[in-house]
Amino acid sequence: DLYNKLIEIKGNIRVFCRCRPLNTEEIAEGASVAVDFESAKDGELIVRGHVSSKKVFKFDSVFHPEEDQEKVFGKTAPFATSVLDGYNVCIFAYGQTGTGKTFTMEGTEGARGVNYRILEELFRVIKDRHDLFKYEITVSALEVYNEQIHDLLLTGSQPSATTKRLEVRQVAEGVHHVPGLVEARVTNMDEAWDVLQTGSKARVVGSTNANEHSSRSHCIHCVMVKGENLMNGDRTNSKLWLIDLAGSERVTKTDAQGERLKEAQNINRSLSALGDVISALATKSQHIPFRNSKLTHLLQDSLSTHSSSSCAGVILAYPLVLIITCVSTAGGDSKTLMFVQISPNENDVGETLCSLNFASRVR
Ligand code: ADP
Ligand code: MG
Repeated sequence: DLYNKLIEIKGNIRVFCRCRPLNTEEIAEGASVAVDFESAKDGELIVRGHVSSKKVFKFDSVFHPEEDQEKVFGKTAPFATSVLDGYNVCIFAYGQTGTGKTFTMEGTEGARGVNYRILEELFRVIKDRHDLFKYEITVSALEVYNEQIHDLLLTGSQPSATTKRLEVRQVAEGVHHVPGLVEARVTNMDEAWDVLQTGSKARVVGSTNANEHSSRSHCIHCVMVKGENLMNGDRTNSKLWLIDLAGSERVTKTDAQGERLKEAQNINRSLSALGDVISALATKSQHIPFRNSKLTHLLQDSLSTHSSSSCAGVILAYPLVLIITCVSTAGGDSKTLMFVQISPNENDVGETLCSLNFASRVR
């Protein structure tokens, strides 16, 4: 709760940086490490450039290679309570392919990631509150690939590229929907995890090269929470988005052509659109460019930092009565958490600096 209070005081956008360990190949090759953990203070990350230059970055939290999933989740868990309190929450993993985005979000069976742990925490708090609140949970799984939205729960064994595309539609001021998106009702942790796994598997089945495909598409899980306060009847309506972003590595025209180049351009476009939106939100800019990519359009309601309500006025001519009904449309406020994943390897320092610069822009 103290942590939740700090989140409120400090604003709604958190950035955590996580550095993966060197892998066995890198160790065997005797790779040098470009990240200096010894002299960094709390929340600091120091990167040595190719020359003797040193760059210092600041984050809300920094996780060193030896810090495990549990440690990371310790700082992430409060977002589960936020969702149940009516906040929209978006959790992103950003970074070059191979830096641990999927490890942080999905994790492995022996080292569960944020997705599993936050669902567990969600159902734990729901149980805790059962005397006071009633909750209804539904989950969706989708991906954005080449600026097209595909439903991973509908895909089944079909390659996602051949399934029907979904679109984002505005149904009222500040309310966006994806018509046709499958929303599966779940009542416990196991059911919820089953559905999300079905989604992740559909993504793998549908592609010829699972690893390559997953590094070029955004994998998105959405948990929708409808709450009712049993004492006063107040209702909340919020969403938790768990997003494993496409790899942020730069691809040039000399590296790729045709379809591969188009993919790279679409990834580039949606990641910079995301950066633009989050930094516009952080600086409380008047215009937030949500429409520049499918991803930001899809997340528009959940990234917006104010709840909106629409009022409809009806005037009856005689006797003169003015009836105004105000309907609260969107859920509450929103909170965003971005994991910036990096490699410690000196050979990756160019991409590492790009990712850290991106993170500094949204912070
Ligand atoms: P990405 O999704 O960013 O492409 P992955 O999550 O697939 O990267 O990670 C690449 C490899 O590194 C995987 O084998 C993963 O298990 C391992 N890895 C990543 N981060 C860590 C970490 N913090 N601790 C241990 N292994 C990690
Ligand atoms: Mg991955």
